[in-house]
Order: sequence, then C-alpha cells, then structure tokens
Amino acid sequence: MDSDTAIDTLSARYQDEVEKLRQYFAAGNTRPRQWRLAQLDALARLITDNESAISEALAEDLDKPLQEVLMGETALILSEIRHARRHLRAWMRSRKVWTPAVGQPGSSWVQPEPLGVVLIIGAWNYPVQLLLAPLIPALAAGNCAVLKPSEVAAASSALMARLVPEYLDSKAVTVVEGAVDETTALLRQRFDHIFYTGGAAVGRIVMKAAAEYLTPVTLELGGKSPCVVDDGADLASAARRIAWGKCLNAGQTCIAPDYVLVDKGRRDALIAEIGRAIETMYGEQPLESPDFAAIINDRHYQRLKSYLDAGQVAIGGQSDDRRRRIAPTVLTDVDPNAEIMREEIFGPILPVLDIDNLGQAIDIIRQGEKPLAAYLFSGSRDNQRRFSDQVSSGSLCINDVIMFMSVPDLPFGGVGQSGMGQYHGRAGFDRLSHLKSVMKRARWPEVNVRFAPYSQWKMRLLKWLA
Ligand code: NAD
Repeated sequence: MDSDTAIDTLSARYQDEVEKLRQYFAAGNTRPRQWRLAQLDALARLITDNESAISEALAEDLDKPLQEVLMGETALILSEIRHARRHLRAWMRSRKVWTPAVGQPGSSWVQPEPLGVVLIIGAWNYPVQLLLAPLIPALAAGNCAVLKPSEVAAASSALMARLVPEYLDSKAVTVVEGAVDETTALLRQRFDHIFYTGGAAVGRIVMKAAAEYLTPVTLELGGKSPCVVDDGADLASAARRIAWGKCLNAGQTCIAPDYVLVDKGRRDALIAEIGRAIETMYGEQPLESPDFAAIINDRHYQRLKSYLDAGQVAIGGQSDDRRRRIAPTVLTDVDPNAEIMREEIFGPILPVLDIDNLGQAIDIIRQGEKPLAAYLFSGSRDNQRRFSDQVSSGSLCINDVIMFMSVPDLPFGGVGQSGMGQYHGRAGFDRLSHLKSVMKRARWPEVNVRFAPYSQWKMRLLKWLA
C-alpha cells in the first residue's frame, strides 16, 4: 500500500473515532464538574500508580535520570492537576462584567464553555509531560481529547497508549500512536482545537491543516533561548544554574539556555565557574554519570557532534557513539553566523559569546526571532527592567533558568516564531474553553432612543451616554 492510500485508510478510521468522541461530547457527558474532577483524579492516579513504568520508559527512550523524571515530567503534571482541582470551581464560574448605561437595565458576563474535541500532539523530549500537561486543561475545561504521542520516544508512546484507556474515560480520551502518516491522517479530521508541541516546520504543517476547518491552534514551539550574564551578576550562582539548565535532559529542553552572552571581562571567570559546576554535578567523567541523559537518536546525535567544532572547546567536547552521549561542552569564539548560532541547539553544548554591555546583548537578541524564554542574570534592578522592557520573549526568568515552569499561574507559551497560545493554570483552562460573552436584558423599561425614527434629541442623548 502506498503512503497516500495508507493515509486515506487511516483517515477513514480516525473519522469514525473522532465522530464517536464528538457524539459523547455533544451528549453533555464531559460537562459536569464532577466528571472533570474524576478525570483529573484518574490522571493523577495514572502517574502515581505507574511511577516505575514511566521511569523505565523514559530510561529506554532517553536514559532519563530518575530525578529528572520527577522534576521534568511527573511532579509537574501532578502539581498542575492539584492546581486545576483546587481552582476548577472558580475557573468554571461565569465572570461578571460591567454593563454600560446604553445596556441598562441589563447584566453581562463571560461564561467559559468547553470547545469539543481537542487534538494534542506531543513531542519526544518530555514525552509524558508534553502529552499529559495539555490534557489537564483539556479535561478541566470539559473537552474530549485525542492524544498523539511522539513516535520518536517509542517506549513512552507505547506506555501512554496502554495506560490512558486504563485510567481515563475511554469514551472521552483516546490515544493514537504513529508517525507522519498517522499524524497526517489525524490532521485531516475536524477538531475544535489543535494543541501542538514540537518544531516550527511541523508547526506550519499543523497550521495549514487546521486552516481547512478554521480550527484554532496552540503551537508550543522552540527556538534559541538566550541567557545574558551582566557585569554585576553573581557568577558562581549564575554558572551553577546555567549549567544545570543546559544539562537537564542533556540539553533537550525547549527552554534550555541556548547560548550565553557575558560581559567580556568576566567571560573566563564565568566559564571557570561553569566548569566547576559541571564537575560537581556530573564528576570528572560526565559521559559516565548516571545523572546525565542520552541524546534521543542517531540523527540528533550526529547533528550535535557536528557542532562540537563550531568554536574553541573550553570545557568538555567528548562524545560516546555507542551510548549517544555528548559531554557538557562550552564553546568560545563561535562564529555568530554559524549554524550553531542560527538553529536551536537542543543538546548539552553551550556557546559563550562576549559582549561589551547589556545594550549590545539586547541588540543581538533582537536581531533574532523572539525566543520562547529569555534569561538575565543581573543584580541591577535598572538592567532587569530595561531587559524586560526591550526583549520580547514567551517568558522571562531573572537570575535563574527554567524554574518559572514551576509556577502554575504563569502562562507558558511562545511569541512570534516561538509559538502561539499559552497554557498551564488558568491560562490553559481559558485556552481550551470558549469564553462566551452573554448579555441579559430586562424587558422593561424600554428606552426608545436606539429605535427609528431617529432624531436630533436621540443623537444628543446617545452622544452623552457613549
Ligand atoms: P517531534 O519530532 O516529536 O515532532 C512532534 C510531533 O509532530 C510528533 O508527534 C510527530 O509525530 C509529528 N510530526 C513529525 N513530522 C510530521 C509531519 N511531517 N507531519 C505531521 N506531523 C508530524 O518533535 P520535534 O519537532 O523534534 O521537537 C523538537 C522541537 O520542539 C524543538 O524545537 C523544541 O524547542 C520544541 N519543543 C517545544 C516545547 C514547548 O513546550 N514549547 C516543548 C518541547 C519541545
């Protein structure tokens, strides 16, 4: 069977599956708050009952260390669930808004309502979290969902396909495993929202497919997240945090600090501190460390290896072909036009570039696309304010990296080429709801001013009321 025929066959099958979900949704099954809470509880149980199976799958896919499974996958999901449970009643409530004089007597409010069937397409780097974290607001908002895990993290994908129907209402949530053909066939279906996490190239494919039915999309993309260390920053603290953020999941994190811009006079001192931090965390032989993940597959491993000679190796530079590991590496004297400075690195390689001052760092960042995250290490409030005012990014974290993810009330998502739409906490609930505006008028008294025949006095009164 050629690929087109295979996609047609899959598409026919998915059409039936999505139709069943749609009917289940239309019958109102997913609307009650009790159903939503029960699903969130079941999702929490899916995680807590299966911690070791999840760790094993992530070890198979990425050799992900146990503590990184907790920090980057399971704890984040559980904290989002707890937060959604606690606030669900308030989020679902209608939100009263002011009604101006022309609308009186009357009242107005915003009523969140579920959208219908949401397609969630996950990425491979945090294959459990990136699939289930968007499911939390989807369920909290009362939707049905189709989950498409990334085939690149095959063990995690298989585990999700097994566990989700075991724990969740299988009439409301289904998992479709597969690669390009399956995703292409899924994207032919009519959904009420498509929530995609991954690279921009596929993001474009998703958005084009969504245009067919005018389906709204959330695109959680990536890009180069810059990290600036200014002349007043505490170097030891900055170095430790940057090194951790770059080495977490071996750099395969969408909000990892991609490259560092540091004051010229402090570059060598910062690199020395980064070296110390790496040694403290991963020992003298980081390739052997049990706390350091592998690169997902050979394609990414070869791509990253080719970056190792994009500059002078100040730290690391070693690799292990057999186990697909790249040692934490710091590069200096990198050509700003080289591929490593144009593409998202997505691995444990950190170019450190000199700057003369904060203004130059801001100019460099603004020449590129708007990043998913921007990082500034600075003790100066003026510099912090200036950076925040002048650099547009999905998120900004001052004096740390990545940790803003732990705050459920901070909306997470990109801007410009790093994505569109935000989730986590209430932002996610609102994103996967329709915020329906409702106005209710009293029948009496009827003010005649808007009705024809129009007149001078009606015009004057309307101007005064406006
Ligand atoms: P990926 O290869 O896992 O692809 C993502 C999804 O797209 C998968 O489910 C895959 O099946 C599907 N897909 C792949 N090719 C397709 C095609 N031709 N047509 C239709 N569907 C297709 O993930 P990736 O793109 O390698 O992910 C890495 C990127 O994701 C990085 O840029 C990273 O920054 C970004 N990312 C962003 C976030 C975020 O939350 N913003 C999180 C993680 C990763």
